[in-house]
Amino acid sequence: MNIADFKKKFNSKNTSLVQRIVLAFIFGWLALIIITVLSVNLSIKEKVTEGFYQSEEKHLLMLIERVENAFEQRKLILQQLAPLMLENDQSLIEEKQMSDVLKIAQLSNLFQEFVVLNANGVSIGQYPFNPDRVDIDYSDRSFVRTVMETKQGVISFPVLGRVTNLPSIFVLEPILDNENTLLGVLIGRVALEKDSLFHQISNEFVRFEGELLILDISHGIFIAATDINKIMQPVQPKSVVSNIVDSYNLGELYKDASKDWIYSIEKFNSFEWVIINLTPISTVTELVRYYVVDYLKIILPLIFILGVIVNIWVIRIFNPLRHALHQLENNLLNHSKYSSIHVSRADEVGRLLMAINELELMRDKQEKIKEELLSNVTHELRTPLTAIRAAINLLSVDNGSISKAEQKELIALSQRNSDKLLLLISDLLDLSSLSQGRLVLDMKKYNLYDVVFEAVNDIESIAINAEIKIYLESDDLKVFVSVDKFRLQQVLFNLLSNAIKFSPENSTIMVKLIVDTTKVSVLISDQGVGISEENHRMIFERFTQVDSSEVRVKGGTGLGLAISYELIKEMNGEVWLKSYPGKGSTFGIDLPVVSNS
Ligand code: ADP
Repeated sequence: MNIADFKKKFNSKNTSLVQRIVLAFIFGWLALIIITVLSVNLSIKEKVTEGFYQSEEKHLLMLIERVENAFEQRKLILQQLAPLMLENDQSLIEEKQMSDVLKIAQLSNLFQEFVVLNANGVSIGQYPFNPDRVDIDYSDRSFVRTVMETKQGVISFPVLGRVTNLPSIFVLEPILDNENTLLGVLIGRVALEKDSLFHQISNEFVRFEGELLILDISHGIFIAATDINKIMQPVQPKSVVSNIVDSYNLGELYKDASKDWIYSIEKFNSFEWVIINLTPISTVTELVRYYVVDYLKIILPLIFILGVIVNIWVIRIFNPLRHALHQLENNLLNHSKYSSIHVSRADEVGRLLMAINELELMRDKQEKIKEELLSNVTHELRTPLTAIRAAINLLSVDNGSISKAEQKELIALSQRNSDKLLLLISDLLDLSSLSQGRLVLDMKKYNLYDVVFEAVNDIESIAINAEIKIYLESDDLKVFVSVDKFRLQQVLFNLLSNAIKFSPENSTIMVKLIVDTTKVSVLISDQGVGISEENHRMIFERFTQVDSSEVRVKGGTGLGLAISYELIKEMNGEVWLKSYPGKGSTFGIDLPVVSNS
């Protein structure tokens, strides 16, 4: 599939990278908001609920203290009133006197009614007067009996008044003569639905939409309630309150048909009573919602602004990439010559684009090198072939005009040129073997001086022909290396013939062996054209030649140095170059020294 087909197939379906990143950000933020809202919701809810319990607990303990103090006060008043019901500490006073005393006591507003019983539990005095109460026998009431038997004051459980039929708590105090004989019982009635204390507690103290209840646990009835109709009503089994009393824990209740509640409960110290505060959970959640909405009011605009900034930012980051892609696609679609992508940043995108530019340049260069190789190789093949062909043509039309000597000369020329052809072809084969790792070297120990000496000797005639002198010098005449002798000579031949090829007449070539402890270097220095610094690295690459008219004239394929470089590398050595244009070049071969043993 080419780029045009690819674009046609996928462009319409896929969202761009920028769109996907922005979408990812948006989803990320949404998730973040949801998580934050949930966690804020939970933690605030927990904190608010916890604070609620704590403040309610304190509140309830305060109410308990208030109720208990009030009853303590009532008891004290009756204790002070009881002796006033006696005459000379011996007998009960007249009914009229009783009502006078009680009338004054009633001003305290702590009791709604007073009744005085005789020693048999029958009513003999009262305030305010109620004709229905005259001579009523109360001795069957358990709390009356308790006072009669123990001669101690008591507070009754909540009961319905016999005469009034109203929910009441009675405070009873024995009337005793100075010999501790029971003469009567003084009773103060606290009307539950009227009593200002209970009234206040169950109404004023309910701060939220909720309910406050006081419950007599042993009798299972309500003493005080926000809903006045509940007073004296039994606690329904399995109701919210009965659940609370059973579990006696702080917590959330979900059982009520209409609402969920949170509650607090505390026990009284002097009574078997408990006080309960029931508050709908919605009161708390309402508060939480208020906090969360406040939080979102701040955070949402912030996230929106951040979103816009990130969008612009991401688009800016990807813009160069988009432009570059556009350019690349255009390059490919138009099959035009590669035009470099403009790079304006040094970040990853910029570096990627630089790398693409670099790769394209390399491709261009390789393309050029291949083209050059083709033209060089064909040129190199054609020159000797033309010479061979001309010689054969001359020989084939021989009509006796060519002397024996000339014939010999023509044959020698053909031989030399076919040798050249063979050399070129074997170079090409070598390079292909090297690049595929197929070249096998025959590594053996040799005296390097001998090998170099042989190579210099072999090439000397060519140097003499070119009117160039070659000198050989060595630190040591015996230095051993492990090499493939044939291949090393091939390298030496290449370096020496290059030196001859690029040196002027009457110049000298110096071959030196410099021996170190671990390595030995063969230096081949000429006084030729030299090679400019920028080409040093390049000439060891395949098919490269320094692009100058001088080199063009000298011919060659640009393979020799590349082959030499690879061969010496295979022999664990290195080929290097030091050269200054116009001043000559020094090629070096470094090889590891092996011991003589
Ligand atoms: P060839 O000589 O067949 O072109 P080489 O790989 O041996 O291939 O050399 C590559 C190029 O390196 C040469 O074309 C020339 O430009 C440069 N070169 C090599 N040796 C020398 C030298 N001694 N002096 C100047 N230039 C050199």
